Formats: sequence, structure tokens, C-alpha cells
Amino acid sequence: MKTRACVLYGKEDVRIETREIGDVGPKQVRVRIGAGGLCGSDIHYFRDGGIGTIQVSEPIILGHEVAGTVEAVGGEVTNVKPGSRVALCPSLPCGHCRFCQIGQQQHCLDMQFFGSAMRKPHCNGGFRDEIIVEDFQCEPVGDIGLDEAACAEPLAVGLHAINNAGSVFGKRVLVMGAGPIGALLVGAAKLAGAEEIVAVDLADAPLSAAIKMGAMTTVNALAEPDRLARRYSGDKGYFDVGFECTGAGVALGNMFPVVKPRGVIVAVGVSSGAHIPFNALVGKEIHLAGTHRFHAEYPIAARMIAERRIDVRPIISATLPMDRIRDAFDVVRDRSLQMKVQLSFAT
Ligand SMILES: [Zn+2]
Ligand SMILES: [Zn+2]
Repeated sequence: MKTRACVLYGKEDVRIETREIGDVGPKQVRVRIGAGGLCGSDIHYFRDGGIGTIQVSEPIILGHEVAGTVEAVGGEVTNVKPGSRVALCPSLPCGHCRFCQIGQQQHCLDMQFFGSAMRKPHCNGGFRDEIIVEDFQCEPVGDIGLDEAACAEPLAVGLHAINNAGSVFGKRVLVMGAGPIGALLVGAAKLAGAEEIVAVDLADAPLSAAIKMGAMTTVNALAEPDRLARRYSGDKGYFDVGFECTGAGVALGNMFPVVKPRGVIVAVGVSSGAHIPFNALVGKEIHLAGTHRFHAEYPIAARMIAERRIDVRPIISATLPMDRIRDAFDVVRDRSLQMKVQLSFAT
């Protein structure tokens, strides 16, 4: 059996190719992909040929935010059946290294992750009409749209970030950067009981999405660069928890004046040269935490979406057919209009 796939050969060189797919094993599932979201890694791989030290050095099928419909299952599969709509968890931890053994699968020493050039050979992703996956990667999503289901991965990133913050219940929460991850994090923080959520971005499209996801106040830091500090830095700060989702070093630094003493700052975005004001870190006893991917949060994210307890529709801004992936990479550049840009596949 054959499938079309979006294969990246290197910087700005993406091709639609036909690939052979084999038979399903006893615990495997063949899924017809319906929707796939472009994520930061796909965009960097396409535009720059890599991210920092991670370089695309051989052809790789892109995509790690995918959902589809089950077509065939192996003899030992019990969690899904043909016709089930599923969100596909993109991570395949080894299950037996020392981090997998203590429930920290996101730190697996032998992780395989859809559409990741981190290891060689690169791990192929899910931008393809048909894919064979392991049964445990399939999260049933009822009859929710596959475009919504394909948001389970970025939502899981947000849920893991919230778990790393401790709790947001009854807290004042700041979200720096209201792109797809930040806006989904707003929705999750609201569901998790945040008392007040303020979202900051440089563009209006993300800010209006953040309002729809549950932010009470937004700040356009391009139009009003001083507003965040002016309004929230008095009396040693205002926020209990801050999430840095932009990956810009300056944004991380700007959070320290507005987060209260003993507050938590979670770095979700990765910055090459974050400026951390150590005086404030020490003097205000700020807890600075990182967050990396997710594990247990993926099925929770899929369920929250399937039940529309978090309605992700405000973040899906455009959908193009998979053979227009090159155009999709152009469309997603316009942050004044775009949030999550998705591909649709053969139906
Ligand atoms: Zn992603
Ligand atoms: Zn492992």
C-alpha cells in the first residue's frame, strides 16, 4: 500500500512523495490522517534547515500534530477500532530507560518523536495520508473535528507547563506570547481555576484568540511597550505565575518585575540568549522552571478537546491541502492574522 507524504530535504525544499507502508503488526493501528498542524519545529526546519544544533541532514517526513480515522487494527488492539477518530500522540518513549522507569518519559534517553531531526536516522512524522502507529499512541476523540483533535499536542505542552508551575488555582496568571501554545495555555489555565489571566503579545490576532480562550486582559507590547511594567510592577509585582511562551530573551526578563516574590516563572519557549535578571531572581525568591514536551498530559489534552472542555477552535486560523504545504509555510508567517495553520489530507 502507498501513501503521499510531505518530505523535507533541507532548507525550503519540501516535496510531496509517495512512500510504501507495510502491514499493521498485532499491536499496531493504521490511521488515515485528517488534519495536521504546523508547529514551530516544522517551520524552523523548513525555513532554516534546522533549529540551532539540530539540523535536517537527511529527508524527513514533517509533522507531529496530527489526528485521523482508524482504518485497520492488529489482532491484539483493543483501545480503538476501524472508524474511531483518534488524536495521535507523537512521542514514543523507549519504556525501559531510567527516566521512563520513574515516569519521566519526556526525558527518555531513547525517545522517538514524530517529525524530529534530533536523532539520526531522523524520526518521520505524520504529514501523510496514511500512517501506521502503535496502539498506545491513539487517543479516541469521539466525533470531534479532526482539526480540533490535532491540537491535542500543543495543548498537552500547555498542560505540562501548568503542571510544572505547581498550581494555578485562584492565582493571577501572566502568559507572555499568545501564539498557539500560549493561547491554549490560557484555555487550560482558565479550566484549572486561575483567578485572572493576562496575555501579552506583539500582534492582535493572538490577543483576540487569547480573549476567546479565557484571558481577561490583553496587552499589545508593540503598541504599548511600557504598559505591562507600568500597570503590574508596583509593590513588588502582581502575578503569582508567569508563562514565557515567546522564546524571546527580553520577554523572559520582562516578567521578573511583574511577578510577585516567591512567584513562579515557567519558561515554555526556548531562547538562545535569555537574559535572566539574577538580582530579581534571588531577591524576590522567584522560582524559575523549565518545561519540556509532556507525557501523561497527552491523553488528558485529547479528552479535554473531545469533550470541548477546552474549545480550541479560536486558535485554528487557516487550513490548506497537504500538497500546498509550501503555501502553508508562507501563510503562517503573517502573525498579524495567523495562529495555528493546518494541513488537510486525503479524505
Ligand atoms: Zn507542536
Ligand atoms: Zn526511555
